[in-house]
Amino acid sequence: MRMWGIPLKCPQCSRKMNSSGIYRKVKEVIDVDSRYYLVGGDYPRCNKCALPVCPWSQDILSQLDVAHRSMFPAVLTTHLALDRKCMTFLKPRTSGNSSSYFQAAIEEVHSEEWARQAIRYLSDCESHQKMATFVPSAAAYPPPLPFRPLPLAQWFETVHSNNILSHLQEMKGVITSTYGRILKMDTTNTENKVIKC
Ligand SMILES: [Zn+2]
Repeated sequence: MRMWGIPLKCPQCSRKMNSSGIYRKVKEVIDVDSRYYLVGGDYPRCNKCALPVCPWSQDILSQLDVAHRSMFPAVLTTHLALDRKCMTFLKPRTSGNSSSYFQAAIEEVHSEEWARQAIRYLSDCESHQKMATFVPSAAAYPPPLPFRPLPLAQWFETVHSNNILSHLQEMKGVITSTYGRILKMDTTNTENKVIKC
């Protein structure tokens, strides 16, 4: 709302929403080799309904035009999110595409990056200790954070399904613009029949 000047409507009453500060929760996203966090700089809120809306909820994202929508970097699930770059590997046409294979591969990449970060941290602690020799009380350095395993393969399946569901409205839009208004879709036979008006 503030950066791009895009007006957002309340999902309940369709009035224009205002910004009510920074969204207080973060969303953890699993990237190709590490994790990062989504932070909401805008917390959209409807003054009439007194209803604040999560900035990355479907109600908000679906109001953006395609160009701005495509800048959103992740596919969401209830607790975590997966970066879009990873989605390519979950598509059925990719070779070696099982979710368990992908889960094992990405966990390997994450653990290698975690090891590199741990080495960098320990090296920085060592340099700091050498520089701090004139300070009487020696600084205490907590051990590097332990490696956090990635979610199970089933979670990656869920993300893949959520990604398909998020494109459902777009697909319906494409079908409608190609075939006219769909009155009924008959799925009882093996071949789907679209009755168009
Ligand atoms: Zn409202």
